[in-house]
Amino acid sequence: MPRISPTIQDALNAQVNRELASAYVYLGMAAWADEQNLAGAASWLRLQWNEELAHATKIIDYISERGGQVKLAAIAEPPMQYENLLDVFRNVLSHEEEVSDAINKLYDLAVSEKDYATQTLLDWYVNEQVEEENQPMEIISLLERVGDSGSGLLLVDRRLAGRTAE
Ligand code: FE
Ligand code: CA
Repeated sequence: MPRISPTIQDALNAQVNRELASAYVYLGMAAWADEQNLAGAASWLRLQWNEELAHATKIIDYISERGGQVKLAAIAEPPMQYENLLDVFRNVLSHEEEVSDAINKLYDLAVSEKDYATQTLLDWYVNEQVEEENQPMEIISLLERVGDSGSGLLLVDRRLAGRTAE
């Protein structure tokens, strides 16, 4: 296996930053949910923060294994203000759609560079993104059904509390 190319290395380092930025976005959302006393949503979002850290770490380990250099860049301040829980999960979905686009572009690059090991790594991320988009879609549909019902919101919050680590 040849050493990782500088192009792939830079693109993977950019993805590490995106995953860490995602983690930070989820941590901000979790803090918002805690402020709103939505303990289930806060727990769900904290689990997602942990997942994003794991996504970043997996790429960091891979860069090292391929003899590349890990470069950590600055992470932007995440949004902390949301209208309601529906607004949070609409933001989750659009955020994950952007992440999916970035992973697809990275995949295109790995294909054009004939880097098969990186394609295999990215297969895992392509699969993961299916779940990452499906989860907020389901939660959005529940929250849309609930509308302005306070008791409905609490039921959704209780359901979100049921999420366990993968
Ligand atoms: Fe991720
Ligand atoms: Ca996941």
